[in-house]
Amino acid sequence: MNFDYTDKVKDLQKKLQDFMDAYIYPVEKEYEEWVNNPANVWQVWPGMDKLKEKARSAGLWNLFLPEDYGDLSPGLTNLEYAPLAEMMGRVGWVSEVFNCNAPDTGNMEVLAKYGTPAQQDRWLKPLMNGEIRSAFLMTEPDVASSDATNVSTSIVADGDEYVINGRKWWSSGAMDPRCEIMIVMGKTDTEADRHRQQSMILVPKNTPGVTVLRGLHAMGSLDSPGGHAEVLLKDVRVPKENMLLGEGRGFEIAQGRLGPGRIHHCMRLIGMAQRGLELMCQRSAERVAFGRPISAFSSVRQDVARSLCEIQQARLLTLEAADKMDKYGTKGAAELISMIKIVAPTMAQNVLDRAIQVHGGMGVSHDTPLFQMFSWARIIRIADGPDEVHMYQLGRNTIKKLG
Ligand SMILES: Cc1cc2nc3c(=O)[nH]c(=O)nc-3n(C[C@H](O)[C@H](O)[C@H](O)COP(=O)(O)OP(=O)(O)OC[C@H]3O[C@@H](n4cnc5c(N)ncnc54)[C@H](O)[C@@H]3O)c2cc1C
Repeated sequence: MNFDYTDKVKDLQKKLQDFMDAYIYPVEKEYEEWVNNPANVWQVWPGMDKLKEKARSAGLWNLFLPEDYGDLSPGLTNLEYAPLAEMMGRVGWVSEVFNCNAPDTGNMEVLAKYGTPAQQDRWLKPLMNGEIRSAFLMTEPDVASSDATNVSTSIVADGDEYVINGRKWWSSGAMDPRCEIMIVMGKTDTEADRHRQQSMILVPKNTPGVTVLRGLHAMGSLDSPGGHAEVLLKDVRVPKENMLLGEGRGFEIAQGRLGPGRIHHCMRLIGMAQRGLELMCQRSAERVAFGRPISAFSSVRQDVARSLCEIQQARLLTLEAADKMDKYGTKGAAELISMIKIVAPTMAQNVLDRAIQVHGGMGVSHDTPLFQMFSWARIIRIADGPDEVHMYQLGRNTIKKLG
């Protein structure tokens, strides 16, 4: 694996590090307190736009979009983006400052890959400029959505329009006041082959019939301002040209969309775990119990050593997956993407659990980012496909190959 990054990447790493030191870490606490104040729920932190302007003028913008997208991309490969995304992962909310946050990144990639020029002009441009936000509506409360063939929202053609009916939840980003566009997955043909029944369609959030019912708590947090919404779609009418790629192509789009999204989550989780390890080392070195620094206890040293090994294992696997994606596309890297999706969240969860333990009571408070990062790692073991689904598929394919 090539760690000798080009000067372009080294330069971006340095810029990003400087940016985090100058503008992010100093406001981290202030941001958390502001967004978690119930009086500010579903509002955008007032400092966000200024940080975005600064990031953009520093050339730290849309770095996630790989070079295959030509003029739209700032020109990095997935492998080159990995160390930068890792750095962004060190602070949960910061990816948005660089316009590199889920679910917008996945939605931008869908529009860049499959959108018509008119769809790109209307939605991709403002998303890439960070002017609006978006949501991705696949999961439904009434069906087990880890099997996406179950998704049952209906999309029915009627003259020049489609009529959409269904109920979605866990629609991340839909609570955000800047969210204007939603990609909705639903069935256009219940008689077709299982993987050709679903389609994806663009639904502006302000379309009559769209009702955002509530923002769900995810492990105790509303994750304001983006949130995770329950959304009712009742006789929602959109023009036929809002269909993405064509009827029955929803699975194809989902595969294209979820691969990059999953690897981005893993890159950021490695940054979270790395930060957890650093905090664990710092705290254990300065805190004294039973006459010696906590760092002198062998169990703590084992926790540190084990965490260091596990982070590096996951990092290498993630880099390999990113490299494969660059060379062979999402499909060609599918197995490695499954592997890191299985490995990275559990690794981060375990490392952060140890870091919390070393911090004692402080570890479960909001005085460090540990609890929040731990919760996020736990959540990612479900979001973007539960661990078991990836293991089920990877196990099946491995047995086919080796059995
Ligand atoms: C914070 C958060 C954000 C999210 N954001 C979005 C979003 O923006 N858009 C969106 O559409 N969805 C989103 N999701 C939804 C997420 O993708 C789903 O929750 C996930 O795919 C699982 O679907 P489900 O909740 O219906 O669980 P179910 O399908 O009901 O599955 C429940 C459990 O069954 C078990 N299981 C399922 N299949 C297998 C198997 N093959 N083998 C063994 N066990 C199995 C697993 O333990 C699984 O966790 C988000 C979820 C969370 C928590």
